[in-house]
Amino acid sequence: MQNISLLIYLTPLLIILAIYVRHKKRINRRGKARLREAKEAGLTEPASIHPVINPGRCFGSGACVKACPEKALSIVNGKAMLTDASHCIGHGACLTACPTDAIELVFGTEKRGMDIPFVNPSFETNVNNIYIAGELGGMGLIRKAAEQGKQAIESMLQKKNEGNEYDVVIIGAGPAGLSASLAAKEHQLNSITIEQEESLGGAIYKYPRNKVAMTQPVELPIVGRVEMYDISKEELLGFWQRILRDHKLKVNFNERMETVTKTATGYTVKTSKATYQTANLLLAIGRLGTPRKLDVTGEDQAKVVYRLTDPEQYCQKHVLVVGGGDSALEAAISISEQPGTTVTLSYRSEAFGRVKPKNRERLQHAEASKRLTVQLKSSVKEIRLDTVKIELADKKVVEILNEAVIICAGGVLPTPFLKEIGVMVETHHGKRVI
Ligand SMILES: Cc1cc2nc3c(=O)[nH]c(=O)nc-3n(C[C@H](O)[C@H](O)[C@H](O)COP(=O)(O)OP(=O)(O)OC[C@H]3O[C@@H](n4cnc5c(N)ncnc54)[C@H](O)[C@@H]3O)c2cc1C
Ligand code: SF4
Repeated sequence: MQNISLLIYLTPLLIILAIYVRHKKRINRRGKARLREAKEAGLTEPASIHPVINPGRCFGSGACVKACPEKALSIVNGKAMLTDASHCIGHGACLTACPTDAIELVFGTEKRGMDIPFVNPSFETNVNNIYIAGELGGMGLIRKAAEQGKQAIESMLQKKNEGNEYDVVIIGAGPAGLSASLAAKEHQLNSITIEQEESLGGAIYKYPRNKVAMTQPVELPIVGRVEMYDISKEELLGFWQRILRDHKLKVNFNERMETVTKTATGYTVKTSKATYQTANLLLAIGRLGTPRKLDVTGEDQAKVVYRLTDPEQYCQKHVLVVGGGDSALEAAISISEQPGTTVTLSYRSEAFGRVKPKNRERLQHAEASKRLTVQLKSSVKEIRLDTVKIELADKKVVEILNEAVIICAGGVLPTPFLKEIGVMVETHHGKRVI
């Protein structure tokens, strides 16, 4: 009788325990699969600030996994782990959520260092009158970048302009550069903002479609306090576009800063379109870099772009995609799915190395169904009005019909440029931020 009562009481408990164990096992399996996939794709190194989890303190509550909007963390063997390191954007939601203080945020890893330029509390570098704001300085995030852009302009107010055309030239129209442009207007500085892309927004412009950005209220010059929390990429871009229009900010799009040289009273900034004399320079150029060019004849035509925006625009066209990373593969595959397209994917190496297994499979499928042609060990020789010339693996040069070229050859990072103009840069391999 006693045994039966015990069984009646214990059965629900045992059922709950079994469900719990199964749930934990499922979570662990999922975490391991994500880690395996990231390893296969060679995407295990975070790009910037990221969490380091102390396994001695972590008891696998999963609070950080739930808190991470980028789905960068998983539970593996009962502990939290940064499985999708390349997704981490370093905003630290995981750190705040952790109930046992097992997380710290660090710059760089042992394998992949993170270059941080020297910037003093006024956002001035070791080079007089050259300032850095936003993600380039190490700390990302929309709100922080916007605050720093404003503060950098405020700290240059004491500086005298001895006869330069501009008080400040601002490079970059991301959150840091736009907030700085507003601050320059508020303080009646003569300023100009230069942006290499055709749109404002910086990294936001490159977020995936409909991505929800997690941000916090921010105090913008002229505009005042803006209550922002979770906001879609499109809404965020719309917000900045209204600011640009309503406050008539002077932003030159499709213009790239190329060189900066010291003059007796300031700097000469040479861009792809003009030359500016300025007393101060604010670099709000983020960390994503400038798209790498092929440096071939004809690359300056309007049909050549460095990023896919909308695959549909290429339907019925002959398209060449150049590159061997995930973005090149994704661009080639999605364009090949449009009706009537002829897609060639050209890559200089003999195999696609660091790409997601899913993209590799989709590419093989598209190639097998003759929707696209892959040319490995090939290089673009010339881009003509209606054709492109490509040297193939056997060294033969072929000329194929072409109406659009998408180059996904990565970015040129800002470190060499910073060093060239004299800004001190230190490489961090896991230095604690918070
Ligand atoms: C996928 C992803 C998701 C993110 N999600 C969030 C989020 O949810 N919440 C959040 O707060 N933050 C998020 N971030 C981070 C946030 O977007 C960045 O920290 C922020 O945009 C940095 O602003 P910035 O102005 O310093 O630089 P950027 O936004 O990178 O802007 C720099 C600008 O400078 C331009 N530029 C660079 N070089 C030159 C040149 N030589 N000449 C002319 N122009 C140049 C670039 O084209 C760019 O427009 C995310 C980032 C990524 C990549
Ligand atoms: S820092 Fe942000 S993106 Fe990175 S793991 Fe933590 S919550 Fe996720």
